[in-house]
Amino acid sequence: MSTPVLVINSGSSSLKYQVVDADDGGALAVGLVERIGGSGHGRLTHTVDGEKHRSDVAVPDHAAAMAAMADAFEQHGPDLAAAGLVAVGHRVVQGGARFGHSVRVDEAALEIIEELSALAPLHNPANAAGIRVAMDTFPDLPHVAVFDTAFHLTMPEVAHTYAIDRQVAADHRIRRYGFHGTSHAYVSRQAAELLGKPLEETNVIVLHLGNGASACAVRAGVSVDTSMGLTPLEGLVMGTRSGDIDPAVVFHLARTAGMDIDAIDDLLNKRSGVLGLSGSQDMRDLVDAVEAGDADAQLALEVYCYRVRKYVGSYLAVLGRVDAIVFTAGIGENADEVRELSLRGLESLGIEVDGEANRARSKEPRDIATAASRVRVLVIPTNEELEIARDAVRVTGS
Ligand code: AMP
Repeated sequence: MSTPVLVINSGSSSLKYQVVDADDGGALAVGLVERIGGSGHGRLTHTVDGEKHRSDVAVPDHAAAMAAMADAFEQHGPDLAAAGLVAVGHRVVQGGARFGHSVRVDEAALEIIEELSALAPLHNPANAAGIRVAMDTFPDLPHVAVFDTAFHLTMPEVAHTYAIDRQVAADHRIRRYGFHGTSHAYVSRQAAELLGKPLEETNVIVLHLGNGASACAVRAGVSVDTSMGLTPLEGLVMGTRSGDIDPAVVFHLARTAGMDIDAIDDLLNKRSGVLGLSGSQDMRDLVDAVEAGDADAQLALEVYCYRVRKYVGSYLAVLGRVDAIVFTAGIGENADEVRELSLRGLESLGIEVDGEANRARSKEPRDIATAASRVRVLVIPTNEELEIARDAVRVTGS
C-alpha cells in the first residue's frame, strides 16, 4: 500500500516540494524552484529516481512557480494524476496562538494564516500565496496546513511569557511561539521508539541544529519549552542568526552606529551567528577552518557549542528527569565535533558521550552514549516532510 502526499514549502523566493509516501517515508520526487520574483530567470531542480533534472524557468510569482513544478512532473514524472495523491500538505511558519494542530485549509483558515503575517512578515504571506495557487492547481485534493509553531502551543504560560508590560504584550500578541515544531515532534517520537519506552513516559531534550537551530524540552511527548521565541531569532547561535542577545544591543546600535531598524534586523538575522563570527555560515567550512588552525573559526565553534550546552543545562532543570538528549538536522546529524564539544564536561550530570560511537558515520537513528551514561545521547535524522505528510493524512482521514 502507499499513501502519497504532495508536501509543499512555499517561501518568499523559493518553492520546495516533495511527493512523500506517508506509509514508509519514501520520497517519490523532490524538487525546488529558486529565485521566484527575481529579476532574471529562476531555476528548477526536479529529482526523480535519483536523477536530477535542471532547467531555467520564468517565475515572476508563486503561480508561475507552481506551474513550473506541474510541468516538471509532466515531463519527468511521476504522473501526479496516476500517483493517487491523497492530499497536499503545506508548511506554514506561524500559526500564532490560534493553531495548536494541523488543519484542513478552507477560506477561513487561509484568512487567519494571512492575518498572522503581522507576526511573520517574511514567511506567512509566501506560505499563504503557495496554498492559494496550489488549491487552484489541485482543486480536487484536500489541502492541509501544518504549522511550525503548533507543537509548542502546549508550552505552559510560565515558559511562553516575556516579562514585559502585559497590555503591550497582549495588544501585539508578543509571546514565545517557538518553531521547528514538526521536527521536534517527529524526532521526540522516534527517540521514544529507539529507547523502547512509551512516549507518555519519555522526557527528551531535542537539539535541532541545522541552518536554523533550536532546542526543545519535551515532557511525555509534549513541548514544555523551546529556545526560539516570537521569531526564530531567539535562542541558539545559528548559521546567520545571533540567537540570544541583550535587546539593548539594538538600542545601542541605533543610537551610536546610526543604524535603522531594518539594518539591525538584517545584521542580527542574516549577518550574525557563525557567519558573523567566522565569515562562513556553513558548519562544514567552519570545521575545516578549525582544523586548519583558524582562530576566528575556533571561537565561533566554541561559542556555538557553549550556547547549546547552556540550553541543555537549563532544560535539564526544566524537565528534572531526562531520558535522552537528541541531536538532529544537518549539523546535529553530521557534525561529531559539535556533539562532542556541546556535551563535554557534563559527566557529573549523567551525560557521557562515547567518542568512538560519536565519530562513526551513519544515516540511521543511533545511541552514542557510553554504557555507563545515565542519560542516553541519540542521533536521529529528522524528516519534516514525512511528518507533514502524516499530519495531512491524519487530518483528512485518507
Ligand atoms: P539543515 O538546515 O538541516 O539542512 O542543515 C544545514 C547545516 O548542516 C549546514 O550548516 C551544513 O554545513 C551542516 N552540515 C551538513 N552536513 C554536514 C557534515 N557532514 N558535517 C558538518 N556539518 C554538516
